[in-house]
Amino acid sequence: MEILDAPFVKAFVNLANDGYTHGYHERNGGNLTYWIEKEEIEQIACHFTPDNAWQEIGTEVPDLAGEYFMVTGTGRFFRHVKDDTINTCGIIEVDETGKRYRILWGYADGGRPTSELPTHLMNLEVKKKLNGGKTRVVYHCHPVNLIALTFVLPLTDAAFTKELWQFMTECPVIFPDGIGVLPWMVCGSKEIGIATSEKMKEYNAVVWSHHGIFVAGSTFDETFGLCHTIEKSAEIAIKVRSMSPTKLHTITRPMLRDLAAAFGLKLNEKFMR
Ligand SMILES: [Zn+2]
Repeated sequence: MEILDAPFVKAFVNLANDGYTHGYHERNGGNLTYWIEKEEIEQIACHFTPDNAWQEIGTEVPDLAGEYFMVTGTGRFFRHVKDDTINTCGIIEVDETGKRYRILWGYADGGRPTSELPTHLMNLEVKKKLNGGKTRVVYHCHPVNLIALTFVLPLTDAAFTKELWQFMTECPVIFPDGIGVLPWMVCGSKEIGIATSEKMKEYNAVVWSHHGIFVAGSTFDETFGLCHTIEKSAEIAIKVRSMSPTKLHTITRPMLRDLAAAFGLKLNEKFMR
């Protein structure tokens, strides 16, 4: 099978294009990683270049040793992923120690994986310990309304979860665990990777203040849908806040309880107080 015909590659490209058309990716903003299934690798392995040099990841992910990932390239623009996949994306393999990677395909014009690779892999490793490898996709983007909220809300998990839950009924259904929030930190560092993966132990979405969001999911649709839902609620929050400093109505705690009962949800109790 040609690599560009592989269903996971098509889904990867679709997510990147969706993110771009939604305005989440100015210039080279954002990055995406997919943890490739072994059966999917077997179908395309004949196209790999396995003699590239091993390079440092910048962190250690021993639980992902020997695994394969499709990753967007550093400095590459999401707007080009659809028409120029081989230059904007690549497939990498992690070595047996979990400390190094090598490029097997892609980054054709001499590129390399996103500078956020340590954070992506640490998130996937944390999720693997929790759910045995169900989480396959990690996505980072810059949704404008959510970023705007990080300038007016307290930078806490509770403030953001409560705000977003109350502005759209779907929100507690889509993210019943809530979402995490990090203060402003230097991006691309091991420190922000560790802080994000700590939050990923509890949530599937982590806000980077004044920067963007990281989301994780088992499929491309689920991952993008989570981000899209969060950003849409943030947009409603901003429109409501722009119209009036107070609200005439809201989704109350009893209403959230009714919703949880109707949908069989287990809402994170620490945000129900
Ligand atoms: Zn970013």
